[in-house]
Amino acid sequence: MNIKITLLPGDGIGPEITETAVRLIRLIAERYNLIVDYSMQPVGGASIDEFGEPLTEQVLKECYDANAVLLGAVGGEKWENMEHHRKPEAGLLKLRKSLGLYANIRPAKIFPAFVDASSLKAEVLTGTDFVVLRELTGGIYFGEPRGYDDSQGWNTMSYTKEEVDRIVNMAFAMAKERSGKLTSVDKANVLEVSQFWRSRVNEIQNKYPDVALQHMYVDNAAMQIVRDPTQFDVIVTSNMFGDILSDIAGMITGSLGMLPSASLGDQYALYEPVHGSAPDIAGKDMANPIAMLSSVAMMFNHSFQMTQAAEIIEEAIERSLEQGYRTQDIYSEGKELVSLSKMSDIILHNVEKL
Ligand code: NAD
Repeated sequence: MNIKITLLPGDGIGPEITETAVRLIRLIAERYNLIVDYSMQPVGGASIDEFGEPLTEQVLKECYDANAVLLGAVGGEKWENMEHHRKPEAGLLKLRKSLGLYANIRPAKIFPAFVDASSLKAEVLTGTDFVVLRELTGGIYFGEPRGYDDSQGWNTMSYTKEEVDRIVNMAFAMAKERSGKLTSVDKANVLEVSQFWRSRVNEIQNKYPDVALQHMYVDNAAMQIVRDPTQFDVIVTSNMFGDILSDIAGMITGSLGMLPSASLGDQYALYEPVHGSAPDIAGKDMANPIAMLSSVAMMFNHSFQMTQAAEIIEEAIERSLEQGYRTQDIYSEGKELVSLSKMSDIILHNVEKL
């Protein structure tokens, strides 16, 4: 099989973790006889420095031409004071919107080696395995009008029928594949846009009679995720609520450095770690590569239907943690503290052995 992957390393630790990802992809490609065409392109601050804007049309074209896009992270202090539309993060928003990536998937699954390291008690956490499906290209992050002046600031939260229906259909299909339970999160007690969201979810439920649906207000959902995360299977929600809930869900199962994500549309797919560019540890060979390597596993699974390759990567990560290796963000006493490059070597070695 011939595939093309566009790599967008970005800023901060982005380039370091992308290098590890490429080593992993090469290893998998060798084993499964894949011919991979790589296109490495600047995004975010790196692109601003080179071209004066966070995402150029040329780079966007490279993404349209690829079977999958893998992104490191964008952002940093250097570009923080730029106008809204010229910031590194604006490049990411433009990328998601241009590729039509309306669904963001973030798994929240506890690694057994981590049960005792979480901020939650082991008995609350054991068995946690759910997915947050966040709407990614609509809602308050994109709504117009937006702005501020000397006396007020304003944003607009709106959803069209099409925007709600496509993500909710995906959520029902995903819940059907998993354990058949869907939680739709909104704020329908206060917001009309949420009442509309809820009415669409109820309508679509008629097509999926075997999926058990519950509605939950976002404030309650935040509490329930911390109180009893095992009650959830698939959570579907709007852009801003999903942004917040997926961070809560992520943190209970480990460090930001462990969390992968996939953003999917009807034609394109983007894979990236949940974390940012971590400027505080950039260039120090300290970053945790696991979020990035798990994102590569999600890529093989969703974009190339290579379930076995994805499982091998996940298993190799799990094994490395069980062997006691830890980067500084997940270090605890009695474990072996290792650098980014050492952790990468160990995980890749475990991939080779599996
Ligand atoms: P961050 O995720 O970059 O870092 C938060 C903390 O987590 C830091 O202490 C960092 O060292 C640590 N951390 C993050 N990833 C890690 C990893 N792989 N290994 C070990 N430790 C890790 O968030 P921030 O500090 O709020 O933001 C830094 C920059 O990243 C900002 O410019 C922000 O806008 C940007 N950002 C980008 C994305 C993205 O590209 N998708 C997401 C979030 C933030």
